Amino acid sequence: MIRALSGLGLLAPIAFVALALLVSPGGPFTTAGPDPIALLAASALGASLTAAIASIWIRAHVTPVVNAAERLAAGELTTLVPAQNSGLDGRLGRAVAQLGATLATTHDAATVDRLTGIANRPALLGMLFGEVERGARYNRPLSVGFVDIDLFKVVNDSHGHHAGDLVLRGVADVLRTNLRATDMLGRYGGEEFMLILPETGIEDAASLSEKLRLLVGGTHFRIDDDLTVDVTVSIGVAGGLGGNLHIDELVRDADAAMYSAKSLGRNQVYVFSEPNDDARIPRAPISNDGRARASDVAQLARLAAEQALISTLTPCANHRGHASALIATLSVGMARRLGLPDPEVDRVRLAALLHDVGKLALPEEILEKPAALTAVEWQSVVQHPRIGQVILEQASVLRDAVPIVLHHHERFGGHGYPYGLRGLEIPLGARIVALADAYDAMTADRPYKRAMTHAQAIREIQRHAGTQFDPDVVTVFCDLYSAERPVADLAIVRGIMAPTTSARRAGHPIHAAS
Ligand code: GH3
Ligand code: MG
Ligand code: MG
Repeated sequence: MIRALSGLGLLAPIAFVALALLVSPGGPFTTAGPDPIALLAASALGASLTAAIASIWIRAHVTPVVNAAERLAAGELTTLVPAQNSGLDGRLGRAVAQLGATLATTHDAATVDRLTGIANRPALLGMLFGEVERGARYNRPLSVGFVDIDLFKVVNDSHGHHAGDLVLRGVADVLRTNLRATDMLGRYGGEEFMLILPETGIEDAASLSEKLRLLVGGTHFRIDDDLTVDVTVSIGVAGGLGGNLHIDELVRDADAAMYSAKSLGRNQVYVFSEPNDDARIPRAPISNDGRARASDVAQLARLAAEQALISTLTPCANHRGHASALIATLSVGMARRLGLPDPEVDRVRLAALLHDVGKLALPEEILEKPAALTAVEWQSVVQHPRIGQVILEQASVLRDAVPIVLHHHERFGGHGYPYGLRGLEIPLGARIVALADAYDAMTADRPYKRAMTHAQAIREIQRHAGTQFDPDVVTVFCDLYSAERPVADLAIVRGIMAPTTSARRAGHPIHAAS
């Protein structure tokens, strides 16, 4: 078409001039000669006719390509570029479409998480930046949620990384398909997702998060034909309005709230709230020194637990779960050769020593039987890996004490530390230990103060029911101990507890649900 237009541009004025000569009075060969004005007009007519046709053609064929290129340049990467024919305009269209596709692929690679297909962290933070700005400009509410899969490491460890990846993808899908059209979702880190909820106050964000938590918890993620995996999530929510919105505070507060959800027992939504404006609780991080000393003591505690279990197994015969130094040595040798990182090597070492711990729970007559086992006996033997799992899970009680240790200086009315939690937000175990700790402190001599009597301590505790202490826990304490000064029971220290009635029967969770 372009060639046709060029030809027309040349020929049209000539044709019109020829025509003008032919039709001029007396013909082209008279002595008077042609009228120069008529010739000029004819060539101008030819040129402008060509220009008009060219302009119509460009509008019809090139302008749509230019418009599409402009939309692509503005970031509308799904724009369709017209490129039907094989002419120059078709080639231009196809080149622009190709550029658009390359741009879209590059953009995806930079902004989309490959595993889950949702936004990656830089893209998420970019969106959050935009939303915070918009919220501030128009004084609108905005909330953010941090969603972390609970005990995800166990999924990887039990079923392999491939299963872990499938679960990650599955959780991302559940979240994505159940958000509102204006909400945004991305993968913030390993097994952690971020929700950006524009135009959403903290209460609505909490109920949306609760809905998502229930949906994830109710989904069975299929790994293969025979296996599905269930997981739960802990969600921390933070939000604000207009000018009070700041990216780093939103991220920090939602993260702190998610951490609180974890420490209160996981599988729950926790909403960040400021302790109180007049009594801001410093969220002081642990010093490097403190952290180093803490990990030394933790290491000792771990070794003690490990040694206690190994020393139970060592005297056993091989077929009864003996902790074999040879198996451990061989396993560590292979783990090192495979280049596993040190913590992983240590895990292999410990597991090698304890791999048959489940046999401790099998009946002696089966393990000692000299003859072949019956089918029923065999069924018992093959349970030992599962029994081992139960034993080791039960042995992780130290980890279970974390929420109580963390929150034992919270105060029922708020203003405690380290989080300034209030009332039922504080794990029940922490409310109990706080009271017992306070009674002990009141009734023992300290370098800086003399001990109170038992009766004084009881009065002091009652005086602080509802502010420092949980009033229900105070009532229980007074019912039990107000009549007489309590004495320590050393069997409790050794972990030998008389089977009590109510605790076993009631079996209520130690963590208050939020
Ligand atoms: P918590 O409830 O305290 O969050 O426990 P957790 O086990 O989920 O947390 P932790 O941080 O100890 O472990 C997170 C695990 O997530 C460890 C890591 O191997 C796994 N993970 C992170 N990214 C990926 C991934 O892309 N694929 C798979 N399969 N696993 C991942
Ligand atoms: Mg995590
Ligand atoms: Mg996790």
